[in-house]
Amino acid sequence: MLIRVSEIPDDGIQIEGADCLPQPFDDPAWVLEELSLNVRKDGDVVLVRGALAARVPLVCGRCLEPFQLRVASAVDTRFLPSPRGRAEERELEADELETDVYEHDLLDVGALVVTETTLGVPMKPLCREGCRGLCPVCGGNRNLSPCACEARMPDPRWAPLKGLADRLSR
Ligand SMILES: [Zn+2]
Ligand SMILES: [Zn+2]
Repeated sequence: MLIRVSEIPDDGIQIEGADCLPQPFDDPAWVLEELSLNVRKDGDVVLVRGALAARVPLVCGRCLEPFQLRVASAVDTRFLPSPRGRAEERELEADELETDVYEHDLLDVGALVVTETTLGVPMKPLCREGCRGLCPVCGGNRNLSPCACEARMPDPRWAPLKGLADRLSR
């Protein structure tokens, strides 16, 4: 979806619903589920605020099982016209507002949605909080079936007690 900046009305544009943006992602497995954006113009600066949610297929970093993650992101981005934007972008880096640029009077809403969603994907995704991962001994998925490997390995926490037991039994 491209918005012509010079045609943004004074009261802004409201983009409501994921249907407004049919498949912005390159990967067809990524699905945009919610979209609510307000696009406003302040001179030649464009402010985009709102929220989005997408469903993204990932592989768990611990148990290696594929799962679907719902990525929800708040959007608060300021767009400056290029090339002025490029210079100002560097100056404004410390600013809490995200800054981007638009070129040739065109604002690419799809690209913004892709960027915001990608930023919301964790580097080390987990299929669930407290995923028990794979057993380092047998390689089994410990979420599905607790294996007996752990029980057979000596637990270092019991070592001091074992020493005591040995002394007492002497
Ligand atoms: Zn997992
Ligand atoms: Zn095991």
